[in-house]
Amino acid sequence: MSKQFDPSLVRQSYRSELVEELRELGSKTFGDVTVLIPKSLGFCWGVDRALSMVQEARSEYVGRPMWLIASIIHNPRVNADLREQGIGFLRGEFSQAGAWDNLCENDVVIVPAFSATVEDMNHLRSRGVTIVDTTCPWVIKPHKRTLKYVKEGFTTVIHGTVGHEETEATCSLILSEGGHYVVVYSIQEAECLSAFIEGEASAEELVGSLRSGSFSPGFDFELHMIRLGVINQTTMLASESRAIGERLRLALVNRDDQASLESNFRDFDTICRATQDNQDAASAVAEQQPDLYLVVGGYDSSNTKNLARVGHRLGVPAFHIEGPHCLGEQLEYRHRTSGEILRRDDWVPSTRPLTVAFSAGASTPDTLLGEVIERLLDSVND
Ligand code: SF4
Repeated sequence: MSKQFDPSLVRQSYRSELVEELRELGSKTFGDVTVLIPKSLGFCWGVDRALSMVQEARSEYVGRPMWLIASIIHNPRVNADLREQGIGFLRGEFSQAGAWDNLCENDVVIVPAFSATVEDMNHLRSRGVTIVDTTCPWVIKPHKRTLKYVKEGFTTVIHGTVGHEETEATCSLILSEGGHYVVVYSIQEAECLSAFIEGEASAEELVGSLRSGSFSPGFDFELHMIRLGVINQTTMLASESRAIGERLRLALVNRDDQASLESNFRDFDTICRATQDNQDAASAVAEQQPDLYLVVGGYDSSNTKNLARVGHRLGVPAFHIEGPHCLGEQLEYRHRTSGEILRRDDWVPSTRPLTVAFSAGASTPDTLLGEVIERLLDSVND
């Protein structure tokens, strides 16, 4: 898929003996607590690759200013580590004023694993910087598919999140080729889109029910809803992506007929392998109905959010937390739909013995997961 890389240094620097042991065993009892760990969790191939490329670039371009456009991946600790290594940020909370506009040939700019918009890439090229492009090959898959859709006259329906870097990059690519898109976040939003297609809702009602920025500029609701091609942001909930594809297929059959599907509808699964594997493994653990299920990862991390939703769907008390600091007298967690950061008391179930399952997003280092598990064990067994 791409040139060989050596992830061992990256893995070594984020190694946790506890997580390694639990990965091997699948479950282990510590006093009153049994810990369950899915077969697949944590750093994915694409993150290993991106972080390895950054370290290779640090060795290759010693002495030259090195920058990230924003986060390399959605994990605050990993980004903080890179800042400590002297890598600057061009955008976001830690950016340096004017750095983006004043880039020059001596600068090295790292494009993150979730890629960058066409406009940003053009800016970097126009400034003559050295570009280290860590875009994950799995992210290129939906890019290629959408280019095909545009060429064949389809509007792209993206199951994704407005504002997520990967989806922003896909949208900019579609626009640069003269195409159109609509972004749907959930099956509920796909229902609204289907209602419009089936003549049950007006364009105004549809716009009102989707998030701001869901439609491409100049979207024509008569013209651009005729032929639809579906793709997914690589890190969405796979079962929901399949349901969205099926719902839109049905809407087009209801509007036209079965025979017209061949010319009016495409659906291509672009969920990445790591996301699928982590979700499948998380399901297998959540199906054991643990008393508590904690998913560790950056609050901006799409695949982490969806690992928590896997637990909710199976009726398990599931919480998306960012790290060990979230486990105090109160539990700090991200609400699965509103995205609000909330706190709750009495979060440790009183049941003894207690079974606690863990998972971790594709951008979560083992060290962070290990610290969370240790903190949990301390709180329950003390
Ligand atoms: S989650 Fe998937 S798409 Fe994202 S970096 Fe990892 S392998 Fe690539």
